[in-house]
Amino acid sequence: AIERDETSSEPIHAYVSVYTEDALAMAQEADKKRARGEGTKLTGIPIAIKDNINVRGYETTCSSRILKGYKASYDATVVEKLIRHHGMVFLGKTNMDEFAMGSSTETSAYGITRNPFDRKRVPGGSSGGSAASVGGKLAPVALGSDTGGSIRQPAAFCGCVGLKPTYGTVSRYGLVAFASSLDQIGPLARTVEDAAWIYEAIAGHDPRDSTSVEHVPVLKLEGNLKGVRIGVPKEFIVEGMSQEVKENLETVLRKLEQEGAIVKEISLPHSEYAVPTYYVVATAEASSNLERYDGVKYGYRAQAGTLSEMYVKTRTEGFGAEVKRRIMLGTYVLSAGYYDAYYLKALKVRTLIRQDFQKAFAQVDVILGPTTPTPPFGIGEKLNDPISMYLSDIYTISANLAGIPAISLPSGWTKTGLPLGIQLMGDALNDGKLLDVAYGVE
Ligand code: GLN
Repeated sequence: AIERDETSSEPIHAYVSVYTEDALAMAQEADKKRARGEGTKLTGIPIAIKDNINVRGYETTCSSRILKGYKASYDATVVEKLIRHHGMVFLGKTNMDEFAMGSSTETSAYGITRNPFDRKRVPGGSSGGSAASVGGKLAPVALGSDTGGSIRQPAAFCGCVGLKPTYGTVSRYGLVAFASSLDQIGPLARTVEDAAWIYEAIAGHDPRDSTSVEHVPVLKLEGNLKGVRIGVPKEFIVEGMSQEVKENLETVLRKLEQEGAIVKEISLPHSEYAVPTYYVVATAEASSNLERYDGVKYGYRAQAGTLSEMYVKTRTEGFGAEVKRRIMLGTYVLSAGYYDAYYLKALKVRTLIRQDFQKAFAQVDVILGPTTPTPPFGIGEKLNDPISMYLSDIYTISANLAGIPAISLPSGWTKTGLPLGIQLMGDALNDGKLLDVAYGVE
């Protein structure tokens, strides 16, 4: 199916690399294991992996020209667990926005990915390839990464489930860093149960990630919504929200009330600052994390007469426009004269946003709202308007700033057949509760 897609006239193009022969060999290995009565419930199940997660011996490009030809010399912890331990079958690496910066998978240096439900529209991003592989039935599950919504927004656009776990519960070792205090790996899957299985397998403390927490999630999917307190933030009704998204939310809320959930209006007063705060914190961290791509250590190297010329040429030719925009913005907000006014200020607002959630979770079990303000948008529609692109993450970003878990679930279709998603957020380290409620809502 993957090969058929790639040669079609408007391919989904979910993958940047596919390893058919290796996958077949791994599948045979898994069959043998199963025949011996060994393995786990994940053994032999194929998985697609976002191209910013290292699989030893295979290229990791982050969909950037600057990493072209770079082969990972070690496995990410999540890969070690899913592929080496559980024996899942590695299908290939999925397309993404360059260095996970974007919401549409249009900034990849290796071509766009199309929405499986409407080839004229984007799959979302930055894990657009992972979401399109699952939504387009080119993989049963996939791994993505989420810094400000990159698992949940594409999941909503491609009709699948996408979970961003609590910060620190899944090791980031082997995930190429974008904004280290926000990045989390998580699953994209067809059902909540599938996502929970993957989450269970990848969660756990890892001494190789200094932000990893000592915590073992307890997962029990019962889906009983009776008495579950669901908070709906009044700030989520924003300008620019589409009518269909609004109506969908109302329909979901009515259904949940019928099933015995208690729906309450709550307030997250600082949520209007989430997007600007994110773009200061994320770009600051990115400008520092992306220093290492200098043409010496990894991937692409431009030809030049002197060392400093080589640095400049490599980065000029290797990075795309959005990545350069972020490096410049991040360097600026961290510079001596502006650090206090921008970076330090953003950290303070981040604390206020986190406190809003702490107050909210004293009253409710989960928070519900749309995943995105609109259904999937058209290819090219927002590419030259960064602000409008950034606003497509308006509902997802605050969970990363607060470190809390959040999940996007498929929630019906627009009149024209485009997928819609809703998002549930839970309290930190309460991924188990979140998944249980999501199981009931699904
Ligand atoms: N769209 C957001 C950004 O461009 C989030 C990306 C992500 O979660 N990796 O930064």
